[in-house]
Amino acid sequence: MIYLWLALALAAVAGLFYLITYNPWLDRYWRRLPTRDEYLAMHPQTRSDEAAHPGCCHCDGREMLDLGLARLTDYRRQFMCRQCKRLLWREQD
Ligand SMILES: [Zn+2]
Repeated sequence: MIYLWLALALAAVAGLFYLITYNPWLDRYWRRLPTRDEYLAMHPQTRSDEAAHPGCCHCDGREMLDLGLARLTDYRRQFMCRQCKRLLWREQD
């Protein structure tokens, strides 16, 4: 009987770890952003040869913030315009 409780406790800890680190709700929100290629296809005027990233389609800002989704080191990245603070596209490390 004690093994059953141990297994249940372990499953609960694993489930909590999954919810905190992966966060499926945030993931769904992240997937609604266009990928970089989709963003460039929608806004070809933001493409620039000298800059590493495309520009902002709202304010023509050139500086982007590279943010992790759930935490700083998250492999799910989202890019925000530094000037108008709008989320523009997503990338995956
Ligand atoms: Zn902007």
